[in-house]
Amino acid sequence: MPRHIILLGPPASGKGTQAKRIAKKFGLPTLGTGNLLRQAIEDGTDLGTEASHYINKGLYVPDELIEALVADWTMRHSAGWVFDGFPRTRAQADFMGGDSGITEPDIVIGLEVPVGELERRIDSRRQCRDCDTVTNTFVHSGPSCPEPQCNGVLYARNDDAIDSFRVRYQQYQTLTAPLFELYRNQGKLSLINGAQDPQSVFNDIEAALEKIASDSDRQVS
Ligand code: AMP
Repeated sequence: MPRHIILLGPPASGKGTQAKRIAKKFGLPTLGTGNLLRQAIEDGTDLGTEASHYINKGLYVPDELIEALVADWTMRHSAGWVFDGFPRTRAQADFMGGDSGITEPDIVIGLEVPVGELERRIDSRRQCRDCDTVTNTFVHSGPSCPEPQCNGVLYARNDDAIDSFRVRYQQYQTLTAPLFELYRNQGKLSLINGAQDPQSVFNDIEAALEKIASDSDRQVS
C-alpha cells in the first residue's frame, strides 16, 4: 500500500475527515498543518502569534514557517504519513522534492467539490477543540464532540466566516490549484469526487490507493 499520501483540495473539501479515515485504516500518522497552527495559536507560541495574523485574514502562512514545521514533524514520522493541507504552494512542493529530506508522495488524492457546496459546508462546519474531529450542524446538533470517548467542545472556526472563506478560496485557486497539474504530470494524481457523502468519498480513495499498490506490484514482478 502507498505510505506517503497527500490530500489536495479546497477549504471544506473534506481533507481532514478523509485524512483521519485513511490514517485509521492504514495505521499512518496524519499531519494537518492547519491543526498544528491552530494548536500553536492556542498555546501562545511565537509561531502561533505570527501565524495568527495570516490565518485570521484567510491568508496562507509564509512558506518558510510551514516548511520548518513540516520538516521537523516529518523527521519524526519518516516511515509514512498522510498530509492534510501541505503542500499548498509550488514553493512548498519544490521544498519536498529538494534536499529537505522529506519523502516524495506515492499518491496525491485531489478532492473536487463545487464552490457552492463548499460555501454550504463552511457555514455549518464545527470542529472539536480536543481531537480536531470535524462535523456539521446538519448531522450533529449538540455542543460537544460526536466521537465516542471525547467530550470536547465544538466550535466554528474564525476563518470559516464567509468573507474569510472567500479569501481562502481565492488563495487556493491562485496558489494551490496549479499543483494538480504538477502532480498529474508526475503520474501521481488521483481525482476523487469530494461532493459525495464521506463514506463514498473514502471508498473511492481506498480504490485509488489499492490501484496504486497493484500497479507498483506489477512493476516489481
Ligand atoms: P486548514 O485547517 O488546512 O484549512 O488551514 C487553516 C489555515 O492555516 C489556512 O487557511 C492557512 O492560513 C494556514 N495553513 C495551513 N496549511 C498551510 C500551508 N501548507 N501553507 C500556508 N498556510 C497554511
